[in-house]
Amino acid sequence: MPGGVVEPRARQIGALAAVLHEHQTAPPFLDLVDELAAQLPQLGPHAVVDVRETKRRIDRERRLDAALVRERSMLHAQARAVWITARRDDDFSALAPWLVRVVHMERRVAACIDPNREAYDVLLDNYELGTSGAAIAALFAELRGALVPLVDRLRARAAARPQSVGALRGSFPVEAQRRFNQLVAETIGFDFSKGRLDEAVHPFTTSIGNDVRITTRYDPQDLRYALYSTIHETGHALYEQGLDPAAWGTPRGESCSLGVHESQSRLWENQVGRSRGFWQHFLPRAQAMFPDLADTSVDAAVRAVNEARPSLIRTEADEITYNLHIILRFELERQLLDGSLDVAALPQIWRERMRDYLGVTPDTDRDGVLQDVHWACGDIGYFPTYTLGNVYAAQLLRAAEAQIGSTEELAAAGEFTVLLDWLRQHVHRHGQTHRPAELIRLATGTAPTPQPLLDHLERKLSFLESI
Ligand code: ZN
Repeated sequence: MPGGVVEPRARQIGALAAVLHEHQTAPPFLDLVDELAAQLPQLGPHAVVDVRETKRRIDRERRLDAALVRERSMLHAQARAVWITARRDDDFSALAPWLVRVVHMERRVAACIDPNREAYDVLLDNYELGTSGAAIAALFAELRGALVPLVDRLRARAAARPQSVGALRGSFPVEAQRRFNQLVAETIGFDFSKGRLDEAVHPFTTSIGNDVRITTRYDPQDLRYALYSTIHETGHALYEQGLDPAAWGTPRGESCSLGVHESQSRLWENQVGRSRGFWQHFLPRAQAMFPDLADTSVDAAVRAVNEARPSLIRTEADEITYNLHIILRFELERQLLDGSLDVAALPQIWRERMRDYLGVTPDTDRDGVLQDVHWACGDIGYFPTYTLGNVYAAQLLRAAEAQIGSTEELAAAGEFTVLLDWLRQHVHRHGQTHRPAELIRLATGTAPTPQPLLDHLERKLSFLESI
């Protein structure tokens, strides 16, 4: 969108948000939902989920008035536009007053919805229902305590060796990459009769009913760049395609939470896609399409996709360091909301935490606090779902393997449907029947715990140290 039309577009977005809000809170609809909610014990199991979740959503919505909804949507659209130029110009002072307004707005909205709970917890319900800032803080403190020493080891290793060029760099014509990425998505289970793979600057997944669209972007010099975005988005898409089509349009036919959604993308991207078994199956197929891979071994490919070292940018971070980027953001956004941290102090505290957690410090705010759009868009409470997704993914894979055996061996044989079927049965088809922590407990036998993820990362680091 051209930069000069931000204002009118923000007004349109605000107007649409207010219209939607008025429909959702129209008295006849509210009365019907309240009436059904009063009969909850008599309803069948499917209707119970749909009525419970619809009631929960409209109970949040009815506490906001249309003017506030409009103002909030406009503010997010405007602040997002300011973020684009502030980041380009490396000018935090341009964004700061807008972030102050966003934080105030989110506090106001949270206070309208429930003045008796912490504002952060009220906002979290939008992304990961049934948890709290305190519960996430406890989980993340455990993770951080274990991750910082792993990153210290990683730094020692990185200092002792030059950054390698990597086996999957070379000449990879985009047309051949399109075929390869399509093959990978299809082999792991994407149903191309009900979706497409296209291109976009920022990869994403979106569903229009049962039509699931994913995007990736290509680098003709690096096979990994598109491939791991494609696998990530395919993981999201497999979840969407695994929802119960008969429940479409109702909460039971919708994904459980952002954290659970992210667990599906991370599981396929990291746990499966970076495994040796995956490359045993796909390397010969890639070699048939790309002459530059003629001399590449499975070992070299596995090394190239698991390289890790502390870095500044979250979206480019490896598996071992990634969660510390998230923990930092979670800690800061929770403090912004409770008022114990001022927006003006963000750049400095960002640099200090990066140094403490990852041992690297950004020279610019563009590579620091300005790198992500989330806060400008009012997405406070969103960041922790990325790490919750990693935690759930490792836990789900461990539970799946206890029943279906080694996914490495299955992948090496090109057999991905056994794992997909397990995920469909234990995660996808339930929609919003259970809250996220309960879904994970039912699927794995234990409440969300970071140990399987820490074990996975420890194994990964030991592998890197061994080569
Ligand atoms: Zn994702």
